[in-house]
Amino acid sequence: MPFRDLRLDPRLIRSIEHLGFTQPTPIQQEAVPAVMVGKDLIVSSKTGSGKTLAYLLPMMQRMLKSRPLSQQDPRAVILAPTRELASQIYAQLRLFVANTRLTCAFIVGGENFNDQEKLLKRKPQIIVATPGRLVDHLEHKSFFLQGLEMLILDEADRMLDLGFMPQLNTIHKAANHRLRQTLMFSATLDHADVNELALSLLKDPYRVAIGAGY
Ligand code: ADP
Ligand code: MG
Repeated sequence: MPFRDLRLDPRLIRSIEHLGFTQPTPIQQEAVPAVMVGKDLIVSSKTGSGKTLAYLLPMMQRMLKSRPLSQQDPRAVILAPTRELASQIYAQLRLFVANTRLTCAFIVGGENFNDQEKLLKRKPQIIVATPGRLVDHLEHKSFFLQGLEMLILDEADRMLDLGFMPQLNTIHKAANHRLRQTLMFSATLDHADVNELALSLLKDPYRVAIGAGY
């Protein structure tokens, strides 16, 4: 299946071509259309199977095609367990965002809080963050999540193993009931806390489990 069958915006296709990717991985083939029609999603697949673009592509597609709920608040938040992972996600996102008018910010622990607050005051549409630092900013009212449209939890199992369940719940609760979509990614679905979180956050989710790596 070529990438063009996913019916992505030409700006996204251009970035994909620039990266030299010719076809979506199996997980991307399953996840991209499901997210584009508005489904909540829970995905498990091996490391290296291309999960990052499985959510970044349909997330950006939806943002390019739909009117924002709010001009003030972020439209999408992507959470990752560690600074390193968040930084890898942010690097991928930046490559795509550069071709569009979408704006993004990187908000993780260990960096200057006031500098991050200034970034948040510029109203980025997409935030890539670690849960602890994002909650600090919510509590400090650096930004609000009333207009959030999409919440994405990458490596949810690791976030739970690191004890982030309360922060994930705080972030989800801070989002308005109009939150359209929640996407969860995990190496395994065989994890009691992942299932508990999925039950509490996801609405009638589409499940994608692919064993083989890409
Ligand atoms: P995962 O999160 O499942 O571990 P990543 O999203 O980090 O996987 O992707 C693993 C690697 O595969 C990255 O280097 C990424 O750039 C590359 N990749 C992702 N999608 C494709 C694709 N469709 N074709 C070729 N390489 C891809
Ligand atoms: Mg990953």
